Amino acid sequence: MFCPRCGKQLDPSSRFCAACGAPVGAAPPPPPPFTASKLFRPRQNRMIAGVCAAFAQEYGWDLTIVRIITAIVCLSGAGAFAYLIAWIIIPDEPYTVPSNGL
Ligand SMILES: [Zn+2]
Repeated sequence: MFCPRCGKQLDPSSRFCAACGAPVGAAPPPPPPFTASKLFRPRQNRMIAGVCAAFAQEYGWDLTIVRIITAIVCLSGAGAFAYLIAWIIIPDEPYTVPSNGL
């Protein structure tokens, strides 16, 4: 066990670092895994894979309009391929873990 602030090795039972006084009892929360991009496919409002909902949510577009445009583009051929690519690339919405707020 090491102090998160100064890196000094500590007794595992200690709650504060003897060197700098930083609290060391609780492990720091892990960073959320999807901070790099907000673009993800929501678990609700899905028609097929949630790709339309992902873009609508990210850019504030109207979901119905996004779907209509997507349908038109997909019918033209290349759009269906683009949809599949987006389906693969865009991650699922992460499950939200309720915070106790300490
Ligand atoms: Zn310390």
